[in-house]
Amino acid sequence: MTTILFSAPEARWADYAEVLPAALKEAGVKARLTREAAPEEVDYIVFAPNDALRDFRPYTRARAVLSLWAGVETIVGNETLTQPLTRMVDDGLERGMTEYVAGHVLRHHLGMDRHIANPGREWRQVAPPLASDRPVTVLGLGALGETCAIALADLGFPVTGWSRSRHDILGLRCLSGPEGLREALSGAEIVVTLLPLTAETENLMNAERLALPARGAALINPGRGALIDDDALLAALDDGQIGHATLDVFRTEPLPDDHPYWAHPRVTVTPHVASETRPETAAKVIAENVRRSEAGEPLLHLVDRRRGY
Ligand code: NDP
Repeated sequence: MTTILFSAPEARWADYAEVLPAALKEAGVKARLTREAAPEEVDYIVFAPNDALRDFRPYTRARAVLSLWAGVETIVGNETLTQPLTRMVDDGLERGMTEYVAGHVLRHHLGMDRHIANPGREWRQVAPPLASDRPVTVLGLGALGETCAIALADLGFPVTGWSRSRHDILGLRCLSGPEGLREALSGAEIVVTLLPLTAETENLMNAERLALPARGAALINPGRGALIDDDALLAALDDGQIGHATLDVFRTEPLPDDHPYWAHPRVTVTPHVASETRPETAAKVIAENVRRSEAGEPLLHLVDRRRGY
């Protein structure tokens, strides 16, 4: 019998205790899902970072470590983890992120804040431009970035997407590599960062790059906090170069009480809620990967350790 160890923070077990065995059964996998097992008996590890498992060396039989999270920056560099590592690409996660990004893009595009907080009861008839006149740039064209970029293009925004390798996606202007970044950011009125955190992407949005979008542009970051140089962003906000930042992720989470982002009038803090792995759909992804592995088929969503994502 195949043994699958569920190694995640305690609270997650309730989410998966029923849906994961059901998904495994549906995929035709005969397996035992457990929270405790002798390491040498474990065939797969369903994993989310937790204090109990940091050393993967005793899991000599494990054929894969299957991450419940999309971002793997905290485990990709773990030298004891030599088994194949997959990350989460989940339909529920994509739909949630699309809703978050579309909602915040439309908030800035339509200038909703002007009407939501209007203590002086001013009758200001400022009509927003059409979406077709509002250039949006999405940094990262992976599972999440591409889905969001397409949804924004469907709403009528002229969308530029940027990635490491060249992409060709109908309805988007796709740029890539370091040379494409300057072009992607130049003149953008809304910038969405949906990149993984790697050695290459850390502090990507520094002072030089924050100066490229149109003056007063909005920045929306549901990617990872360290993609942004915080001091540079605060300076760009104070100067008016960046008109508003909607930030969902931070270098330290929860965001410390005394962090300047909390009090800044042009920053919206959301507490890492842009999207989350949805157990119903994620369980199917995990089950499919176990089925593939058992059938000798290649795993889906394998992490490339050298790239870091
Ligand atoms: P993917 O791995 O599918 O996509 C990553 C994208 O970033 C790819 O397009 C990739 O390029 C691009 N990229 C990576 N490194 C570089 C680089 N150096 N230069 C240019 N482009 C680069 O990730 P997902 O779309 O699934 O997720 C993105 C991130 O979103 C996650 O890593 C996580 O940090 C964050 N996230 C946040 C959540 C939240 O609630 N706030 C929830 C879930 C995820 P290429 O296509 O060429 O490989």
